[in-house]
Amino acid sequence: MTLLHPVLNLPLEDDLPHWREDAACRADEAAEVFFPGGDRGQTKTMTDAAKRVCAGCPVRIDCLLYAVETRQEYGVWGGATEPERRRLARKVNAAPSRTAALRIISAS
Ligand code: SF4
Repeated sequence: MTLLHPVLNLPLEDDLPHWREDAACRADEAAEVFFPGGDRGQTKTMTDAAKRVCAGCPVRIDCLLYAVETRQEYGVWGGATEPERRRLARKVNAAPSRTAALRIISAS
C-alpha cells in the first residue's frame, strides 16, 4: 500500500516518516485549511480550523518535530504555523540534547 502525504495527498518516498499513516488530517476533507491563503481573516479562520484538527491528532508531536527539523516553510504542521515553528526551532536548536528538544516540542 502506498502511503500518502496527509495534507497534500501525494505519495510519500520510502524514507519519509511513516507516522503520517496515523495523521488526523488524512481524513480531513478540507485539507486546504492546512495551507491557508487569501485575506487575513480567512487565513486566521483556516489556521484555527487546522489547529483544531492537529489538537486531536495522535501523531502531533512527531509531525511538529519533523516540521521543525526539516524547516517546513508553509502551512500548519503539528498545530503550529510557520512563525510559531521558527520560534520553536530556536529553542530546539539551543537544547543540549535530543531528549531536551523533545521535551520542548512536547510542551508546545
Ligand atoms: S499534527 Fe496536524 S498537520 Fe500534523 S499530521 Fe496531525 S493533523 Fe496533520
